[in-house]
Parts: sequence; C-alpha cells; structure tokens
Amino acid sequence: MKIEPAIRRILVLDDDAFILKTVSHALGRLGYTQVVTTTSAAQALTLLRGDGDAIDFILCDLNMPEMDGIEFLRELADRGFGGRIALISGENPRTLKMAEDLARARSLTIVGAIEKPVRVEALKALLVQWQTEAQEVFSLDPPPVTPEELRRAIETRELVAFFQPQIELATGWVAGVEALARWKSPSRGLVLPDAFIPVAERHGLIGPLTERIMADAFSNMTAWRSQGLQLRMALNVSVESLKELDFPDRVLAGILAAGVSPASVILEVTESRFMANLVAAMDSLVRLRLKKIRLSLDDFGTGYASLAQLRDIPFDELKVGQTFVRGAAQDETARTILEASIALGQKLGMAVVAEGVENQGDWDRVARLGCDLAQGYFMAHPMPGADIPAWVDAWNARHCTADSSVLQ
Ligand code: C2E
Ligand code: CA
Repeated sequence: MKIEPAIRRILVLDDDAFILKTVSHALGRLGYTQVVTTTSAAQALTLLRGDGDAIDFILCDLNMPEMDGIEFLRELADRGFGGRIALISGENPRTLKMAEDLARARSLTIVGAIEKPVRVEALKALLVQWQTEAQEVFSLDPPPVTPEELRRAIETRELVAFFQPQIELATGWVAGVEALARWKSPSRGLVLPDAFIPVAERHGLIGPLTERIMADAFSNMTAWRSQGLQLRMALNVSVESLKELDFPDRVLAGILAAGVSPASVILEVTESRFMANLVAAMDSLVRLRLKKIRLSLDDFGTGYASLAQLRDIPFDELKVGQTFVRGAAQDETARTILEASIALGQKLGMAVVAEGVENQGDWDRVARLGCDLAQGYFMAHPMPGADIPAWVDAWNARHCTADSSVLQ
C-alpha cells in the first residue's frame, strides 16, 4: 500500500503582490509553513530548477503579464513536474475549466481552482479535500484486475448484473432497468465496471462478459415476469461486440431462449467509441434494428457525433450524459447543452433518458424540459435483481397514486 506524502513545500505564483501576501498568510494559518512566493512565472521556473524536488504543490495564477499561467503550465509539463497544482483565477468558469482540462491533457495533476478574491475557507477546503481524496485513493489502491482473474470470474459467475430503475417522468411508473456489470469478488469485494470493462475489451473477454451479463439480465426478467412484473431491459454493449458480425444473431438467440420480447430489450452504445468505429458497427446496428431490438445512444454529449451522423443512425433513444444533468444546477453551459440535447432527441423522434438524476432539482428540471425517462441515485442505486420487485412495490406505493401523480 502506497502512502501519499503530506504537502511539504508550496509555491505560490501570482503577479499581484497583495494576493501573494493574503495566500501565504492564509496558508500559514492553516499550518503550512514552508511557502515560497513569486510574482513571475520565469522566476518560478528558475526556482523549480534549483529546488524543484522540494516543491510538491503549486498555486498558480492564470492571468499574468509576460509568461501567463497557460505557458507556465506548459513549461511544467515539459519538465515532467509530478506535484499537485491548483489554479487561482478571476476568469469566468468556462475559461478556468478549459485551462484545467488543458493541463490534465498534458498529464499535470490539477487538484482544483480558487476564484479571486481568494478566501481562506476556499483555500482550506481545497487543501483538505485534496489530502482526504489522496489518502482514500491510495489506501484503497487495489492491484489491477488481470485477464485471468476476469476470465475466471465470468466462468464462475462471480460476474453478475445489478439493475438500476428507469422511471417514466410523466407518470412516475417504473419503465425498466439498466443492467450494470458487477464483480462479486471474494477477495476484493464488489468491483465496479471501470476496473474490469477496459481489461475485458483489451483482452478479448468482452464477448463472454456481455453474454454472461445478458444471460443474467434475461433470467432476472423471466423471474420478475413470473411475479407479475414486466420491465424493459437496457444493456450496455461495447463497440468491440458490435464489430463481431454475428453479434445480432447471438443477442436474438439469447432473447428468444429466455422467452423475452425483442422490443423490451434496448442496447446502449456509447457515442464517442461508436463514432470511431462507425462502419464496422453500422452493420450490427442495422441488423439489430431489423430484429426489432431497440438501440440507445449512451452518454450523449460527451462524444464527437456530428448532427448529420445522428440523423443517419437508427437509434430509438438518446441518453443525456450525467455531467450535463448533474451539472445543470450550477453551470449555465451544462444547462444549455442539456436543454438542447433533449430538444434535439425529441425533434428526431427519439425517447430521451436523463442519467445521473441525483436530487429533486435535477428531477424537476428534466421533467420540465420534457425528458421521457429518468435514472439516478435520487430514485435508486443499482441493486441485485432479487431486490427489484420489492423496490418497485415500494416505489409504486409512494409515488404512483390512483391519479398517477408524480414526485413533486
Ligand atoms: P454508463 O452506461 O454511463 O452507466 C451509468 C453509470 O452511472 C453506472 O456506473 C451507474 O451506477 C452510475 N450512476 C447511475 N446513477 C447515478 C447518479 O445519480 N450519480 C452518479 N454519480 N452516478 C450514477 P457503473 O455501474 O459504475 O458503470 C460504469 C460504466 O461501465 C457504465 O457507464 C458502462 O459504460 C460500463 N458498463 C457497465 N456494465 C457494463 C456491461 O455489462 N457491458 C459493457 N460493455 N459496459 C458496461
Ligand atoms: Ca449505459
């Protein structure tokens, strides 16, 4: 287990001497005594050259005469600076966000940003948050999943599907669920897909993984149906699977073997990766469509689809990426993208699903904007299939009265 060292020495770079004084005073009050300050990026680089190893945290202004913050960060990246960086800025949030993204794209570690005028509380929150997160990340720090482990987990059925409900916004009824892969590992605990889907994709295991999740999903659908519960099933499909030309035939065979209707199955494909493999995937998508299996464009807004491509692809549903749904509360750009995506989906005759609905505000906003379905922690976290019928009963009892009134 790696232990993240505490911050030893902080460099503060800002052309405004008053800010330097305020920040170093505030840092002193927070117990950080090893603080170096400088008013120019060139000086900062000289300092780092001589003493670089000792500096492990830089607070950096973006807007400076001569060398600005972006140029300074570029220099830091070229030198392979491995410490943490926080930005100080009076710029608008979009410019700040772009600067953060740019620095991350250059493999620098940006831990956050502080707006000017700098407040002690904001500075404290940033440092505390960073140190806590660093400790959490490093104390968990599990060894990476190996392909052999994953193959065994698929074979022994430690790999299972969990299910997250999707709610019809207009009526409050539970329309269906999305199946999400989980690995119930005896040694690691419950492992989330980000730790093993990329491994499966790289090592030719995505086919067996998808087949296992589908089989588990369909057998749960059959069990729910025997309890009087009809739900549609959304399944995540990797572009690697779509590239296999017999994929549509295998999916249909699985659906028919389980006695499920193809129209109650919807396959979610992630936009960015789909676009990169357009021709190869198109064959499978059209054939799935011919077999009456429905298609959903996942994480819309985060990839690189052009509007013309969107027009030409036979999707039934569009899922608006969670960053826009969750972000809409504070960020005007996210709100605008959310509104435009919903309108676009509707105009193209697609059902629109809002992912990442985390609170009443998110729910009200997506309902007002005319989304069809909502999914998110506000309603339910993903859960084992056996828990779904009781959850649906409890939900219906609370939210679907005789007059179909909805969460308000
Ligand atoms: P996704 O398809 O975008 O799935 C939604 C993810 O958001 C899920 O994460 C879900 O647990 C999480 N989520 C749901 N509601 C909320 C919310 O309100 N707030 C927040 N912060 N998160 C929420 P999960 O289960 O960790 O899955 C991550 C990704 O792994 C999925 O993203 C999907 O791309 C991939 N994945 C999951 N299962 C499979 C699978 O069976 N096959 C393939 N190919 N990919 C899968
Ligand atoms: Ca999905």
